[in-house]
Amino acid sequence: MFLRQRHEIFSLSFFVSYDFFAGFIRRHVPPLPSNVGHGRERRTHSGFLLEHSFDCRDASPYLYFCRRLCFSDVKETQRDKLEKMTQTDGTIQPEFDYDSRVNPYFPHQVLMETTSACQLRCKMCARESALQKGTLKVGNMEDWLAQKIIDEVAAVNKKTRFWFCFFGEPTISKKIWQRIQTAKTKGIETTVINTNGNLLTPSICDQIIACGLDEIYVGLDAATSETYAQVRIRGHYDKVVEGVRYLLKHKGDHLKVTVQFGVYEENEHELDAFKKYWQDLDVPVFIRPKLTWLGYLSEHNPSHENRYPCPWILDSFPIYYNGLVPYCICDWDNRMPVGDIKKQSITEVWQTSYRKWQDLHLSGKFGELPPFCQQCRDWQAKKPGETLKKLYSQKLRFGEFAMAKPDYIRTQNFN
Ligand code: SF4
Ligand code: SF4
Repeated sequence: MFLRQRHEIFSLSFFVSYDFFAGFIRRHVPPLPSNVGHGRERRTHSGFLLEHSFDCRDASPYLYFCRRLCFSDVKETQRDKLEKMTQTDGTIQPEFDYDSRVNPYFPHQVLMETTSACQLRCKMCARESALQKGTLKVGNMEDWLAQKIIDEVAAVNKKTRFWFCFFGEPTISKKIWQRIQTAKTKGIETTVINTNGNLLTPSICDQIIACGLDEIYVGLDAATSETYAQVRIRGHYDKVVEGVRYLLKHKGDHLKVTVQFGVYEENEHELDAFKKYWQDLDVPVFIRPKLTWLGYLSEHNPSHENRYPCPWILDSFPIYYNGLVPYCICDWDNRMPVGDIKKQSITEVWQTSYRKWQDLHLSGKFGELPPFCQQCRDWQAKKPGETLKKLYSQKLRFGEFAMAKPDYIRTQNFN
């Protein structure tokens, strides 16, 4: 008997109807005009083919053949893109792995605002203005929400860089050390905080070391207490330096301590002295170029020429203490929330509302972005990595990878 099993009979009838369908598409769907991007329109039926090949692996070689027929009228570049995602056996081979900074499935970095409280009033910080306008409130993240976020990151990708801060000073939170410990217990590889360092007392330093935190960035922005006082209003330079030195002495091999210098008019003359002081102590120095915070610091605006897709919106996922997700990490004002992690999962927001804006960036359609993003210069504060350069040069968008979903999306419910 040629056809011995029921699934083979099903596969054959499926091939026949599929062949008819493929032929129908080729005969009746007109080619797209040249000024229309092929990806979105073609995605409807490319998605159809890809979805079926993903689920019906027995039929894969045949579907691969059908796919080639269906795309015979598609531009060479677009067909190349699709074939890159498809193996000869018809299974999907996503181009991205979770180590990629730019990833259509899940953000490379998650920032969870444990608390939005802060004791300083730094000159360059947009937080004070947002508080005065009422667009930002002071609050602490609820336990169940923090746990939900930790659970999803641990389940989806333990390599995600997990920041336990966004706006606000994380060391003010009494719960943060327990949360970091939970994340480490669940196997999340890299936990990070960014702190102003004013609360780095021996007792807090001991908790930082004990909870298993992997990386700490201490924002100093100065090499002298005089300059520090001009930038970090209400802060105490000597206290911070003392705290960092305590950490360095007691941390052991695990914790990585980095000192940070954000460059502003008030402090740029101290950059070299800062580097020398800390490098002599063998401490890594991170220099953060001038950011405009969406134009808030307009005097810092650099050039807007040769724009490339903004790396911030393509690799980072900030969550306010109340669960709201802003448009991007530089949307200090939460002027355009795109999700709510109290009701949605990170995966869902990343692959739906975020993706729309990400794909406009990747397609170079900067004129269709929200006005504040069109005008923002902060994309230049972060250099594009190799994956982003490759995507942009090929005009590949996240939407084209939508069908190759990892299993977790179908099997896990994070809501
Ligand atoms: S420490 Fe950070 S959050 Fe606080 S005022 Fe300074 S820059 Fe803003
Ligand atoms: S350009 Fe500015 S507003 Fe737009 S995504 Fe980047 S940081 Fe955000």
